[in-house]
Amino acid sequence: MAELKLSESRDLTRVERIGAHSHIRGLGLDSALEPRAVSEGMVGQAPARKAAGVILQMIKEGKIAGRAVLLAGQPGTGKTAIAMGMAKSLGQETPFAMMAGSELFSLEMSKTEALMQAFRKAIGVRIKEETEVIEGEVVEVQIDRPAVSGAAAKTGKLTMKTTEMETVYDLGAKMIEALGKEKVQSGDVIAIDKVSGKITKLGRSFARSRDYDAVGPQTKFVQCPDGELQKRKEVVHCVTLHEIDVINSRTQGFLALFTGDTGEIRAEVREQIDTKVAEWREEGKAEIVPGVLFIDEVHMLDIECFSFLNRALENEMAPILVVATNRGITTIRGTNYKSPHGIPIDLLDRLLIITTQPYTEEEIRKILDIRSQEEDVEMSEDAKVLLTKIGVETSLRYAIHLITSAALACQKRKGKIVEMEDISRVYQLFLDIKRSTQYLMEYQSQYMF
Ligand code: ATP
Repeated sequence: MAELKLSESRDLTRVERIGAHSHIRGLGLDSALEPRAVSEGMVGQAPARKAAGVILQMIKEGKIAGRAVLLAGQPGTGKTAIAMGMAKSLGQETPFAMMAGSELFSLEMSKTEALMQAFRKAIGVRIKEETEVIEGEVVEVQIDRPAVSGAAAKTGKLTMKTTEMETVYDLGAKMIEALGKEKVQSGDVIAIDKVSGKITKLGRSFARSRDYDAVGPQTKFVQCPDGELQKRKEVVHCVTLHEIDVINSRTQGFLALFTGDTGEIRAEVREQIDTKVAEWREEGKAEIVPGVLFIDEVHMLDIECFSFLNRALENEMAPILVVATNRGITTIRGTNYKSPHGIPIDLLDRLLIITTQPYTEEEIRKILDIRSQEEDVEMSEDAKVLLTKIGVETSLRYAIHLITSAALACQKRKGKIVEMEDISRVYQLFLDIKRSTQYLMEYQSQYMF
């Protein structure tokens, strides 16, 4: 098989959906796994957070292979937030993939293919590569005379001032490629156009006219230090197995990563990739980073999906599977049997169950405060009180949505701080579920059946 192509690109749709939880940076536990009241973006839900932390500890110690977590609780009680917090506490590189049970039923691919893709989105591969690197210091270049075209430019002088801004390391492979056979010596200055990525060697004198072409507000100058210029350095890429699959699937290719339109991926492609990754692991070039796969509305899965999950959990590379539901005893899809949460008993048996509880008014207020900060929205005390009240009466998620729209209403009236009037304006503009239902009941006769 040809060399596998790699990319650090991220699935855009995934990034967008995770936005609602961007304030979650971990589970907010101390070293004894006790939850701090407000920490790492997390508020309240203490027993659930603690339980999630204990599970992570067991995973780290290799004690719960082949098992999964079920988060049971009402909508908007932080099930997704906790799953995300688990991934974040495992490290920044830990992949987190999320999907809703109902997403599996599409015409584009089979249910099991969609599940397989979701699993592979939650398995990271850390690949180590050795590359040549030029180390250098970023320097500031000052022009003595304004750059003019023609002969004057050829004799114009540039002086250079070294500043202690930052040290550039990772430009190495790219620089060497761009400079081709031109050898770089210590003291040489390299100009990098930050927009186009074009790299020019300026040498030690700036008297040549072409140097002027390289000077612009978007140019960064790097001076190579004395001593050894080219070193070998280890560069680490982190990708998911799914990204490797998509890029190497001949029919889809690289662009599918951005559109999310991956279609089915052939089993042979996956087998080849698994073999290659296994080779890399043996050679010490790659490591597997099991992530977290979160499946919301798990009661929407049917019996075939459940047996897929049972099997997938046995795989040594399996991510931590966290499923969530707000259903009690209900029918298992594809059967006539009822079971707790609509999950077959054999899978239930493997699940560690954590429940989430509705939030108190004070907790809602704190979550809304954190979200406002995250979205850079300033709000008056009155507005906060009103928004919290709305959160209590309707739902936390509805109140969170009002933050952005209230900020837009505030912007429209050229205000700086979101006031009560902005909140009540958007509250009237967008209905919550309760009011929407009431409206439908009142005007039922005017809708089509
Ligand atoms: P559903 O069952 O409808 O999927 P859910 O239980 O997964 O809901 P989330 O989506 O996690 O609920 O919560 C709604 C919003 O509130 C999200 O933006 C989430 O990040 C935030 N949130 C929920 N719980 C907490 C918490 N304990 N601390 C901070 N933010 C939270």
